[in-house]
Amino acid sequence: MRIDWLARAVPQASALYPYVPGKPIEVLLREKGLSHAVKLASNENPYGPSPKAVEAIRKAAGEVHRYPDGDAGALKAAIAAFHQLPADRIIVGNGSNEVLELIIRTFAGPGDEVVYSWRGFIVYALAAQAAGATGVAVPEADGLTHDLQAMAQAVNEKTKVVCIANPNNPTGTLLDLTSLQGFLDLLPRDVVVILDEAYYEFVADELGDSLTTLTHPGLVVSRTFSKAYGLAGCRIGYAVADAAIAALINRFREPFNVSLPAQAAAIAALADGEWVRARVADTLVERDRMEAVLQQLQVYGGHSHGNFVLLRHAGSRQIAASLEDRGIIPRPLAGYGMADYLRISVGTAAENDAFIAAMQDILAAMESRS
Ligand SMILES: *Cc1c(COP(=O)(O)O)cnc(C)c1O
Repeated sequence: MRIDWLARAVPQASALYPYVPGKPIEVLLREKGLSHAVKLASNENPYGPSPKAVEAIRKAAGEVHRYPDGDAGALKAAIAAFHQLPADRIIVGNGSNEVLELIIRTFAGPGDEVVYSWRGFIVYALAAQAAGATGVAVPEADGLTHDLQAMAQAVNEKTKVVCIANPNNPTGTLLDLTSLQGFLDLLPRDVVVILDEAYYEFVADELGDSLTTLTHPGLVVSRTFSKAYGLAGCRIGYAVADAAIAALINRFREPFNVSLPAQAAAIAALADGEWVRARVADTLVERDRMEAVLQQLQVYGGHSHGNFVLLRHAGSRQIAASLEDRGIIPRPLAGYGMADYLRISVGTAAENDAFIAAMQDILAAMESRS
């Protein structure tokens, strides 16, 4: 007789499902028999990491017979110096994703609530569910932007954690620091608020410094090396929190949760600020160009503050399929209740040219058929 493993698993397993990532390039190549594809599905840095980070990984490769520093002392020191904060306030993880999960798991379990925006990053909902906590998804007032008023009202005595992505993925919206501080002031002081700044580098000039501006005892600001820094494949991210919160989260962490090459790469990448700023500037120029084209083509889904743009069209499913036929991988957003949207990462100029040419083609074909 077959064993019903689901019945044996923790109760929250039945409602859980695996995170659906952007389609990997190799998978599309295999599916379509293509020799070349452009992935615009996961908001990666299309230029690659800093050459200094690549060199650090090369050097680290000869040392991987040793465990990494479990406490990531050198990396934490580098991050602390970068932010001019004490190192005991830094939490590092296998991607900021792990940091987010650790925070939620440390504070929320069965009977507790985790509040987030309905069209916020899906990982908050998944992490809350995995922890056995109850996720509370608050609708956006305008369909895209966090409704901070409603989110504050959703907080009650069961609420342990609130999650906000700023800029938000997938909607690309940005909250200013004044609005965020107003929101924090409405909350009980002991509610943990995760401010997920995965796209911070793309809005640094516009937003200002949340770390030095915002005040709330339970504030945890997370950043990642996966987006602007170009180290998504290394899996490395971090958060800044109250030292007592950071110490608690350490209890839930695996002993060696950040690999040796990842630690080395992140230290080198952080030191090469010039390189990151140049790539961010390239990306912002290209994002403006792509948004202008989407407007011209009348498929504009609204302004994005991240390294991605939003395409909106009733035939988005067909557009996605046609893009994939042409070797371009977009990110459908049906899972966020945004069935008529596609999220398109900003690629290199050549990649974006390919996307734009494909879109002109696809829309012309759709029009001539209708
Ligand atoms: C990409 C992304 C992350 C980063 O994930 P990593 O685990 O650091 O690669 C976190 N939050 C949001 C909103 C993202 O879009």
